Amino acid sequence: MERYVRFNNGSKISYGIVNGDQVVELVGDELSHFQETEIIHDLSSLNLLPPCSPTKAVCVGLNYKDTILEPGAKWPVEPLLFIKPSTSLVANGKSIVKWPMTEHLNFEAELAIVIGKEAHLVPEKEAHHYIWGYTIANDVTAKDLQKSDGLWGRSKSFDTFLPLGPWIVSGIDPHNLTITSYLNGEQKQKGNIGDLIFGIEYLVSFISHITTLLPGDIILTGTPGGYGKTLNVGDKVEIEISEIGKLSNQCVECKEAWSMPPRIKEQ
Ligand code: MG
Repeated sequence: MERYVRFNNGSKISYGIVNGDQVVELVGDELSHFQETEIIHDLSSLNLLPPCSPTKAVCVGLNYKDTILEPGAKWPVEPLLFIKPSTSLVANGKSIVKWPMTEHLNFEAELAIVIGKEAHLVPEKEAHHYIWGYTIANDVTAKDLQKSDGLWGRSKSFDTFLPLGPWIVSGIDPHNLTITSYLNGEQKQKGNIGDLIFGIEYLVSFISHITTLLPGDIILTGTPGGYGKTLNVGDKVEIEISEIGKLSNQCVECKEAWSMPPRIKEQ
């Protein structure tokens, strides 16, 4: 098992491999080019960034068996996909901003697959060759806008709506991991990766037949039952996946100049 981190080292962004409480700096900007250097950092001293730099985050809706049991949900025939922009990423420990355009945020605990090499028209049985590893994602959603818009483009895409990290773990069997979310320390979701409707290798194959997946791209595999809890300003949300770790972020008010007029609501 290896843990990869990405960090801002003064003037440049580097990757490293975690070894205990230290990090061995790597040269190269993607998995197939990495080489270890002699440079060692203390893990606690590093300013960790989201652990990869995706061109896109392809996300799956309704992909756990227990979410299908909820009223009104239907068993999906094919994966239901949407895309979050790379600009929505934030690292472990950074803030989720409640933008003035929305009044109701939700969080969703998700396992993220990280792609290691370019994947185009990949058969399911070959998919594992294209996976770098796994990390933890929070699919933050403006629930009010998701309902009023019908389409999900706006509600899923705000800056800071994709906390990711703290690192990428490779060399583990991801098929039986426990995924749990906590709001201010209280458990809200608990699931198992074994309950995915569309599994990890199938998703890589399916998505690679739609869009070419590039190194560092991520696939958010959906969220288990119990999702839909409100995230308020001041709340701390933590997502834990066994064998990977914990992703922790706090929701804050927007402190930037906001130049949009007040939102016009339908009567
Ligand atoms: Mg989701």
